[in-house]
Amino acid sequence: MLEKLIFEKSSPGRTAYSLPECDVPVEANDTTPLPERFLRKNTAELPEVAEIDVVRHFTRLSQLNFSVDTNFYPLGSCTMKYNPKINEDVSSYEGFVNLHPYQNQEQCQGILQILYEFERTLIGICGMDAFSLQPAAGAHGEFIGMLISRAYNVKEGRRRNKIIIPDSAHGTNPASASMCGFDIVEIKSNSQGLVDIEALKRIIDNDVSALMLTNPNTLGLFEKDILKIAEIVHDVDALLYLDGANMDAMLGIARPGDMGIDMLHLNLHKTFSTPHGGGGPGAGPLGVVKKLIPFLPAPIIIKKDNSYGWQYDFPDSIGRVKPFYGNIGVIIRAYAYLVSVGSEGLGKISESALVNANYLRKRLSDYIEIPYGERCMHEFVASTRKLKANGITTLDIAKRLLDYGFHSPTIYFPLIVEDALMIEPTDTETRETLDEFADALIKILKEAKTNPEILKKAPHNTPVSRLDEVQAARKPDLRWRKELS
Ligand SMILES: *Cc1c(COP(=O)(O)O)cnc(C)c1O
Repeated sequence: MLEKLIFEKSSPGRTAYSLPECDVPVEANDTTPLPERFLRKNTAELPEVAEIDVVRHFTRLSQLNFSVDTNFYPLGSCTMKYNPKINEDVSSYEGFVNLHPYQNQEQCQGILQILYEFERTLIGICGMDAFSLQPAAGAHGEFIGMLISRAYNVKEGRRRNKIIIPDSAHGTNPASASMCGFDIVEIKSNSQGLVDIEALKRIIDNDVSALMLTNPNTLGLFEKDILKIAEIVHDVDALLYLDGANMDAMLGIARPGDMGIDMLHLNLHKTFSTPHGGGGPGAGPLGVVKKLIPFLPAPIIIKKDNSYGWQYDFPDSIGRVKPFYGNIGVIIRAYAYLVSVGSEGLGKISESALVNANYLRKRLSDYIEIPYGERCMHEFVASTRKLKANGITTLDIAKRLLDYGFHSPTIYFPLIVEDALMIEPTDTETRETLDEFADALIKILKEAKTNPEILKKAPHNTPVSRLDEVQAARKPDLRWRKELS
């Protein structure tokens, strides 16, 4: 059953409070505490409900949503890992929530120290020379990376127009490059699902500003020729940009800086365990090698004589890209996460992510086609194309999983796999959960042959069943109208 709107539960005169009579004396000639012109003419039409109605209403609403806190969420590329509650706790400390960005630096040395240390930690993890914490998301980091690649060329006194991007890339990569005015040159993957080195050699020239690479790539495969790729890119003095959305596969094991990466973004809301989804804030810090530091968004945090402050004086900076200093609440959560994990625990995160993905891959490989690779990194991509003969689409499988209490994997991405099902179990799941998911998916794959109708009408156990997704996106009905009630 759908939960009614709180307005529909309203009953005249019902309240969620009971206050004693006011015992503060009111001056005889001052019956209204506010000037008349500020007072509303009609009373506000607010729902009149009891406290228990309010509690039940919002608790039920929260349960209509699927979340990492309630169920397994193997949404490939998105790293929907568990977000430890201690991070929430720390980020809501009074000292943080009551800060104002216009306070002077002497009054906020604590938060400045955190930003400074967090930046050093990211430098250590990634093997880069500096980070900007301003970008608000991965795509924002990409965009700024592309602006920096342009600024780098301008400084070298030249113009370059092209960005090379593999056909397996996330859609934000070409979008970010295109927004900066670059032409996109697509490079095809080879039969193993990796960048085709010979094709790269053919298309690279002095008009290429950067190659944007995802490693491990979106098929969950490590680009093992990364050093060769870096060499080819650097031979024409182009830059190698890493889409670092898949860092959950490398933490404490390998460093992008050692692979010849010149720039990368991290997604704190993926790899560093801060909540994401639903359009809430994220953070996409951008790391660079030394020669690109002058172009970073200003201001940059510095430490001088044991105090912290902002340095604004960067003549070649591409400028500020975010009001104030980034989404600090997200950064505090990620910092708390890294402090609680410690340097010894870092590698264990990625080891668990790799073991979990390979375990699940192995459990499913006899039942579903997995077109690329024998092993995977932190995720893998299956294909449901063989079920087409039974009239079953990838979407049907995804919807049916909800009936078994699992969020769907990512579907129809990456584009180079037909009918893709992209599965990322993350590092925080137990073997039991992985087995339950594998059992459910195997059962659904059998249902696809024995009872396809049940898949086509799925989900059956959710508050709403299959939506018209086009109408829901194009004509959302978000307004409550009194006359309808
Ligand atoms: C999530 C993701 C992005 C975009 O990151 P946002 O933080 O959502 O902007 C880019 N590339 C890949 C591979 C991703 O998974």
